[in-house]
Amino acid sequence: MSWILKAFSLLALGAISFATPSFPLTVNPLPLLPGEAASVSVKAYTNSPPQGEFAGQALRFVWDGENWVAFFGLHALTKSGKYPLRICLPSGPCQEMELFVAHKDYPVEKLRLPEEKMALLKPEIVEEEREVVAKAYSTFSAKPLWLLPFSPPLEGKLVVTSTFGLRRAYGNSPPSGFHDGVDFRAKEGTPVYAPAPGRVILARELALRGKMVVLDHGAGVMSGFLHLSEIAVKEGQEVKRGELIGKVGNTGLSTAPHLHWEVRVNGVAVNPLTWLGKSFRPERPPFLKNPRAWLRLAP
Ligand SMILES: [Zn+2]
Repeated sequence: MSWILKAFSLLALGAISFATPSFPLTVNPLPLLPGEAASVSVKAYTNSPPQGEFAGQALRFVWDGENWVAFFGLHALTKSGKYPLRICLPSGPCQEMELFVAHKDYPVEKLRLPEEKMALLKPEIVEEEREVVAKAYSTFSAKPLWLLPFSPPLEGKLVVTSTFGLRRAYGNSPPSGFHDGVDFRAKEGTPVYAPAPGRVILARELALRGKMVVLDHGAGVMSGFLHLSEIAVKEGQEVKRGELIGKVGNTGLSTAPHLHWEVRVNGVAVNPLTWLGKSFRPERPPFLKNPRAWLRLAP
């Protein structure tokens, strides 16, 4: 198993491998959980990647040196049950199976916002901004730059004020969505650091999300930092793990200074805290030829 899958398996509750005469296939972790990420790896020495789909989500495979691997996210509101996975090699055989998604309920959080902040929730503002952010998160670069665990985006003890997945209801309205990141309490101006190496895809001020930075960590893994008071990077810039990307603020739809951090995998929001989870000593990634570069990335 390659370094990246070994790394991922440490977040796992379990994994399953399927070997048929056609090609070996591993899904990890199982059972799948709403609001968490998983990987599918395929051992096949083909020149081009396999094609695959899970529950209607197109999978995007990258070569990690030993396997074709695709990372995907389970939407936080996915209902428990069996969902179809289908993988085909470029030249032929396909495998189909059903994967079980376990049950996970996220509680409802009621939010009260001052009138001027509520005014930001106009459908046209919400939609316009959703498109900008969706475009940023649709970026895909095949080279995985990340290692697990990610490092925390803030220094010191992390104080979580709102967890991932909470169903959110504004005022007296029914829940209109869910919290697609995690909120950390922090003073205005607290430095925010890149949790993993990446490229800056978006660095600008938006009405609801305030000053926002999106990083592409490669292989479909992205992270976003919202409500910043200052942005310290430019779109297109490469950042190292631990590099300053901005400062905590209260811009956009926010009632007090805090950092909202989100992680998207293949475009789906997943729980960022899982990515800080475990410590381990990975092997040297095969695609990093320069040992010095590797030392800088090592946790
Ligand atoms: Zn938040």
